[in-house]
Amino acid sequence: MPQEHRAYSSKWMPDLEIISDENWTSISTLQSILEELEHRNSNRARLLKLRITERLNTLSSHQENNTSNNESNTESINIRILTCLSCNKKIRVTFPFGGNQLKCPSCSIVMNVIEDENGHIYITEQAKSSEQSFDTRKLTTEICFQILGVQKNSSPREIKTAYRNKIKEYHPDKVSQLGSRLQEVAEEESKQINAVYEFLKNNGMA
Ligand SMILES: [Zn+2]
Repeated sequence: MPQEHRAYSSKWMPDLEIISDENWTSISTLQSILEELEHRNSNRARLLKLRITERLNTLSSHQENNTSNNESNTESINIRILTCLSCNKKIRVTFPFGGNQLKCPSCSIVMNVIEDENGHIYITEQAKSSEQSFDTRKLTTEICFQILGVQKNSSPREIKTAYRNKIKEYHPDKVSQLGSRLQEVAEEESKQINAVYEFLKNNGMA
């Protein structure tokens, strides 16, 4: 990488005046130069600090006026590597990204991602998935038929058969070779199928 493309650093760019034209258009580079200048008290440093602050103001107001063009603005794009809470897979994430939830491409769990005002990224607990919020109080016969995959006018016998076939798919013996997350999903599915069958029995349909 040519020297002039890098951010200012006292180690290898001792002259405070050396900021290439390209770096004058880069918010992140200017911010890092400004940080470096905070540790300096010379007149040159103070002058440069003023110029950079002014420039940053111009750039950020320009950025606000072009919100529709944000995607083409590489300065606001920031790539981080996050670690999946469940399978420890390293996930490459581009910030800012839409929403605040991240789905692991490997094990499919969904995590809440929070970025604080200093740009630090935190992954908090796993977001609640829809099957975990399954509420038996909201069951209707229509939902039950749909979950079991049977027609509305099915006989109790057909419903029982559908139930047995469904519950077999998620039997612990069948999913024991799968990852822990998938076993959890299977357990949730089994609970749901059992609840549905129970509901139909209580309503005299199975
Ligand atoms: Zn994962």
